[in-house]
Amino acid sequence: MALRRVPGSLDEFIGNARVVDVLKRAIARDRLPHAMIFAGPEGVGKCTLALLIAQYLNCLAPRDDGSCGKCSVCTRIMAVIESRYLKCLKADDGFCGSCAHCRIRTRRHPDIRLVEPEKTTISIGQVRELINEIAFQPLEARYRVVILDPAEQMRAEAQNSLLKTLEEPASRTVIILVTTNPYVLLQTIRSRSRVLQFGEISPERIEKYLFEQQGRTVEDSRLAAALSGGRLAAALGFNTEEYREIRRLAFHFVVLLLKQGRFSDASAIAVQVTKDKEHFERWVESVAALLRDIYFVMLAPERVGERELLGKMEEVAAAVDRSRVVGAINAVNKLKGDLQFNVNRQLALEAMFLGFAGKR
Ligand SMILES: [Zn+2]
Ligand SMILES: [Zn+2]
Repeated sequence: MALRRVPGSLDEFIGNARVVDVLKRAIARDRLPHAMIFAGPEGVGKCTLALLIAQYLNCLAPRDDGSCGKCSVCTRIMAVIESRYLKCLKADDGFCGSCAHCRIRTRRHPDIRLVEPEKTTISIGQVRELINEIAFQPLEARYRVVILDPAEQMRAEAQNSLLKTLEEPASRTVIILVTTNPYVLLQTIRSRSRVLQFGEISPERIEKYLFEQQGRTVEDSRLAAALSGGRLAAALGFNTEEYREIRRLAFHFVVLLLKQGRFSDASAIAVQVTKDKEHFERWVESVAALLRDIYFVMLAPERVGERELLGKMEEVAAAVDRSRVVGAINAVNKLKGDLQFNVNRQLALEAMFLGFAGKR
């Protein structure tokens, strides 16, 4: 059975309890601001919370701590959440309207609008269309909720056209701008909105959630949470097997680098890890982290991040000079800098290996 990835109701939302509390209290007193900015790091659930608030406001059978999650309103708002990441199974570009994913889209609630960039920006055309729609009463919702995500993808022109709507909001309409950085929005937009700041989620909380609600193993949950950077979305997308494979190749490379291994072995690794840019970047990060850990093994063992490989790293640390490890860290940092300039990844990695391996 596929596990549900999204919370079904407000009380299932993970992290940022203070923000949730502020919103709930505002709703209880019927004082929810008509324009809000949800600001904070990527992947902590800003847009999801906006949709859960829409659900809470409109649920046909709300409970004290959240929406029912079952009524026709709740399920159609769930469809908005679910369809965020769904692409049509048949059409490469656009929607066929009949495949399983498109059918979820067609169930979406008409008054809960999620406006996302069409290509790279939320265009002035999209904003104008929205303003025209808001001019009318909601079709059926008690509260229409409009979410623009990411709001900073609106150019100044599009933001300006939204100003008047923020100033004189339509009745029963809540506008939520989702952004990682509110300061890239126009000051006039910020001054007309209530800014709610989201923070990272603690690794302990993420670990508990992955284990208890997503059916991950203890070990898998711990690792995904520790490497998530406080972002639930990153933890959910984390692939343990892929991570272990990246780390295995990174460790092998580190040993070759520090112990002056054969170029042909290093080159074979380079061929494997440089095919995909994103994959390669994660691999380089892993090499950098392992080198840092080996350095810590020599100086401050309590700071080693990767405890699983501690024994193997101690072996390496005993066999090489500290200055050699520092040199390798610098070489990897330089490689990371070079990669900013779209160099040939494989050649850059091989050149780094040769340049460093020759040094004693
Ligand atoms: Zn409901
Ligand atoms: Zn389709």
